[in-house]
Amino acid sequence: MDDRLQEKVALVTGGARGIGKAIALKLADAGADVVVCDIDEDGARATCSQIKEMGRKSEAYKINVTDFDGVADMMKQVIDTFEKVDILVNNAGITRDKNIFLMDKTDWDSVIGINLTGYFNVTRNIIMPMLKNKNGSILNIASVSGLIGLPGQANYCSSKHGVVGFTKSLAKECGRAKVTVNAIAPGFIETEMTAKLGEDRIKELKKTIPIRRFGLVDEVAELALFLVSDKARYITGQCFTIDGGLTV
Ligand code: NAP
Repeated sequence: MDDRLQEKVALVTGGARGIGKAIALKLADAGADVVVCDIDEDGARATCSQIKEMGRKSEAYKINVTDFDGVADMMKQVIDTFEKVDILVNNAGITRDKNIFLMDKTDWDSVIGINLTGYFNVTRNIIMPMLKNKNGSILNIASVSGLIGLPGQANYCSSKHGVVGFTKSLAKECGRAKVTVNAIAPGFIETEMTAKLGEDRIKELKKTIPIRRFGLVDEVAELALFLVSDKARYITGQCFTIDGGLTV
């Protein structure tokens, strides 16, 4: 059995499905107790049940990451129950793709609010105990849209470029306290987010990927596990691309 994260407590946002769920299960499989938060309460509970079946402690919280005070309340409950958080995975994110002339203010505000301000809200409420304990790993799920520009994604690309900057800045602030901060930039991964693209578009997109397929959530989770484990204590401020060669 993999026991790399024995005695660790992890918190994963957007853990009800997709990449967040795969990461939550992977960290539990490596021995961590896992707090699962999502705006989708039933989905978060389902992930939580799977983790408990693996013999780990887990709690599900319904949370909107844009709600700073709500996140603060949740964190109090998490500390009461788990006493600490060693690993934070900021993952909850959305897309509202449109060309700029069709993009309304709600499309802009919702993507920036969840994908960027949401990462701040959760991190700000978790960072103090991590710094005091002189231990911790923060992993931010960015995107290849945080490295390159893509048409129809001015909002999403801006949020994900922001996440990469946030990661680098925090790494410089938190290194002295032995808290690492890294990001993962996935390309196209098979989840409900990319299923929305439709079959024809997916077929076309696959032709542009050197490996000729979308990635699997488990492939992202495997990289996430390594980055939050003690094997990666000297890695910080980095953004790791996992995209089948899309952006090389
Ligand atoms: P997904 O399948 O759509 O899952 C995202 C989860 O986050 C959902 O359960 C969603 O709940 C939840 N969520 C949305 N808004 C929230 C909020 N305000 N507060 C709390 N939870 C919220 O997405 P995914 O494909 O797994 O993507 C996960 C992360 O990876 C995102 O940051 C995304 O940008 C990034 N990413 C994905 C891909 C990809 O190809 N899939 C590529 C690059 C980067 P509801 O559905 O109920 O709203």
